[in-house]
Amino acid sequence: MTFEAISKNFFLYLSNNKMLDHLAKKWGPKFGADKIVGGVTFEQAVPLIEGLNRQGLQVTVDHLGEFVHSESEARKRCQECLGTIRTIYENGLGSELSLKLTSLGLDISEELVAENMQRIMEEAQKYNVVVTIDMEDSSRCGRTLEIYKRLKKDYPNLGTVIQSYLYRSDEDLDDLNEYDPYLRLVKGAYKESGKVAFIEKEKVDANLKHLIKKNLLNGHYTAIASHDDAIIDFTKKLTEEHGIGKEKFEFQMLYGMRNQTQLDLVKQGYTVRVYLPYGDDWYGYFMRRLAERPANIAFAIKGIFSK
Ligand SMILES: Cc1cc2nc3c(=O)[nH]c(=O)nc-3n(C[C@H](O)[C@H](O)[C@H](O)COP(=O)(O)OP(=O)(O)OC[C@H]3O[C@@H](n4cnc5c(N)ncnc54)[C@H](O)[C@@H]3O)c2cc1C
Repeated sequence: MTFEAISKNFFLYLSNNKMLDHLAKKWGPKFGADKIVGGVTFEQAVPLIEGLNRQGLQVTVDHLGEFVHSESEARKRCQECLGTIRTIYENGLGSELSLKLTSLGLDISEELVAENMQRIMEEAQKYNVVVTIDMEDSSRCGRTLEIYKRLKKDYPNLGTVIQSYLYRSDEDLDDLNEYDPYLRLVKGAYKESGKVAFIEKEKVDANLKHLIKKNLLNGHYTAIASHDDAIIDFTKKLTEEHGIGKEKFEFQMLYGMRNQTQLDLVKQGYTVRVYLPYGDDWYGYFMRRLAERPANIAFAIKGIFSK
């Protein structure tokens, strides 16, 4: 096994550690996490969003939250989303909202998550805010897409995510075609087995290119969420060759990653959206970013020693 594979498995394993997650909530963003997380409260994130907007960047804001196991907690998360939607509107922020269905009760009951999502989408429609349902691990993919399809009929301002590492994604794209989906296409961030997902990076990359091409040629607005120059260059070339205008797609990157590339793309006339997470539940998110890229470990170690 390569160093990269070992470190990936290690950090993905740590990302599920509930005791460390619990401790991390007490500490607040540490070890460099504050460079990629926009604060603990949405109030702390607002000036960051305004700053990003001033630089020509759009935002999608995400209240970090996993491991939600009680109904009251899921309802609290729902309230947080409603408040965020209103604040985005009242402050005229160039921001969408991203959320995870597990934080709204997906693992508790179907009724609960449906009720919470319905309330969020009513508010989002009222205040004209776009909402994207993040995609979690493969065991939740089917249920997430079912909820997406049910809601998309009534709420056009709803998006979701397709992960190129999953074998099923090509079929999912076909299945979603009739819903005129707003899709964020990514490689995928969770630990998956070879039974459901491509393990080889080349196959994940090739499938992402395939999905980008298919979704754009199907005529759907597409968010290409990747820090990978090869994917960005592929998208630029593809859209030029097929005469697909810059208003038909956008690039998305995580807050704190490839800042100069984000600004360069804006200068070139592309829409760039920054995914800005906030909240005290920063631990799992931070561990997945460490798993993705060994270079982020150096960044985290620097964070430890600069505290
Ligand atoms: C906006 C956004 C939303 C996402 N939403 C989801 C989601 O809902 N569900 C999900 O499973 N995953 C999500 N992801 C994560 C995604 O699935 C990938 O795990 C993650 O983006 C890493 O893949 P990559 O394409 O960026 O590049 P990688 O395959 O990790 O890296 C490829 C190459 O890109 C370059 N690179 C990568 N990162 C950096 C960096 N920080 N600085 C400099 N160069 C870099 C390097 O050259 C690297 O070799 C999201 C990602 C983004 C950007």
